[in-house]
Amino acid sequence: MNKKFIATPVRTKEILKKYGFTFKKSLGQNFLIDSNVLKNIIGHAGIDEHAGTIEIGPGIGALTEQLAIHSDKVVAFEIDGRLLSILEDTLSDYENIRIIHEDILKANVHQVIKENFEEDQPIHIVANLPYYITTPILMKLLREGLPVESITVMIQKEVADRMAAKPNTKSYGSLTIAIQYYTEASVVMNVPKTVFMPQPNVDSSILKLVARNVAPVHVKDEDYFFTIVQACFAQRRKTLRNNLSSHFKGVLDKDVINQTLDSIGIDGTRRGESLDMQEFSVLANAFYELQN
Ligand code: SAM
Repeated sequence: MNKKFIATPVRTKEILKKYGFTFKKSLGQNFLIDSNVLKNIIGHAGIDEHAGTIEIGPGIGALTEQLAIHSDKVVAFEIDGRLLSILEDTLSDYENIRIIHEDILKANVHQVIKENFEEDQPIHIVANLPYYITTPILMKLLREGLPVESITVMIQKEVADRMAAKPNTKSYGSLTIAIQYYTEASVVMNVPKTVFMPQPNVDSSILKLVARNVAPVHVKDEDYFFTIVQACFAQRRKTLRNNLSSHFKGVLDKDVINQTLDSIGIDGTRRGESLDMQEFSVLANAFYELQN
């Protein structure tokens, strides 16, 4: 990547100065100023000149520019109206970018995909996400069942570790199951604070999520499954039996809970963090059967 690109400290400072732009902390505005990190994001995103890309939060266009160069078309959602005229200027050399001034959490992404990409075009989401809403954004994108092959995002390291965690680790929890039910998750790189302007208070990682073609486990009811998983992690130090008793208080008797656990061969004295997704599905399905 070359010096004229947006993602350098000098160019970024120039753009900020030219427009008198001041960062809004409340919008998670930490812009990338390091071309090597951008190279890594692009390299891991699995895109080529045929791909359609969707970005969330283009900022002043550092990543958008690279997506425009390395993919067929970029559609980017930006909530901050002050950035629209700046982006028009910084990205004026590229004709394959569409900026949508909208809150991603309120956007109809299915519709946007239909309107902007070819029917069989591979689509990838690539972003340096605003950290204050990382999880709601990813859960929205996953739960909506978008026709997207992968999601490659810069997020807070601690959250990336939780999303890509393995059982029996500190980071493993209900968020792990929620993410890994829909995707295969991996942390591809840890990133120092110095690659951002301004620097965030937390460390960051690039997380890659690859869409699964088929669900990894069979669950009778997805909402019920996720509710049970959350219940099993409600108090991490408590046993499954105790967490489930609190969850089903006034609804299912302790004896019934123990019998159900026995019937599926899961020891009630285990903790939630020791169960893999397959075991959670068996557990949730058993209680679902009991209640329906
Ligand atoms: N992509 C740029 C970069 O890497 O330099 C900026 C990334 S910055 C971490 C996050 C961006 O997301 C900001 O431009 C911010 O205004 C935008 N943003 C924050 N909340 C948003 C939302 N709900 N919907 C769309 N964009 C949002």
